[in-house]
Amino acid sequence: MLKVEPIPAFQDNYIWAIHDGRSVAVVDPGDAAPVLAYLERKGLQLGAILITHHHGDHQGGVAQLLASHPLGPDGRSLPVAGPATEKIGHRTQAVAQGDTVTLAHPALTLRVLEVPGHTAGHIAYTGSLDGLGPVLFCGDTLFASGCGRLFEGTAAQMLRSLDQFAALPDDTRVYCAHEYTASNVRFARAVEPRNNALARWQDKVAELRAAGQPTLPTTIGHEREVNPFLRSRLPQVRQALAGRMPADADDAAAFAALRAWKDEFR
Ligand code: ZN
Ligand code: FE
Repeated sequence: MLKVEPIPAFQDNYIWAIHDGRSVAVVDPGDAAPVLAYLERKGLQLGAILITHHHGDHQGGVAQLLASHPLGPDGRSLPVAGPATEKIGHRTQAVAQGDTVTLAHPALTLRVLEVPGHTAGHIAYTGSLDGLGPVLFCGDTLFASGCGRLFEGTAAQMLRSLDQFAALPDDTRVYCAHEYTASNVRFARAVEPRNNALARWQDKVAELRAAGQPTLPTTIGHEREVNPFLRSRLPQVRQALAGRMPADADDAAAFAALRAWKDEFR
């Protein structure tokens, strides 16, 4: 049985911890200190590190984690998986589309998806975890009710990346790397004021945040109902974009207009 828990870091990052009660794989440890405190508090051993992209808030803690935990529970050097085409310090496994990452501690296998857009070599990890079912660790590509900014990739690339996510099973638990949900939902409401599922979700998000709770994980099925970036082909979303793109804009141009609107939305 595996569990996934958030380790809050910086202002609004989540470092995700996948553990079996003994050893942990951490996803995107941008900072070592909260991970070390978590290991200590839970009495868990660090077993592996998974990185989604090169940004400092996702890999900045790797060096310090390895300095204090050079070896995994089996006495071998700690595996560090990361995207093959990006500069990831201390990476031991360079992975690309379709590759699998198999860990011993904790025992699990995840499949790699290449999801360019936020960065050029961004990857995500997906698979089915023992006791949890389908999961997705998507870094800064998909957020609850939102998506990552296009720093290195194009709108067309990001749309294809999100299409890969949308094709995953509805019950896939989605572990995003930031708590951006409340502001994303405000934007989503501006795009789709008549989406009732979104209105209900906004109330739920407010309730969770008021209680100091994460709004994550979300699920693919839920995101398909409330996330404008997974809904950019729908007539009501295209209509909302009418003044921001030509009427004959293709799917990528519509997605670009939606992303540009979010960039300037306050
Ligand atoms: Zn990032
Ligand atoms: Fe980030």
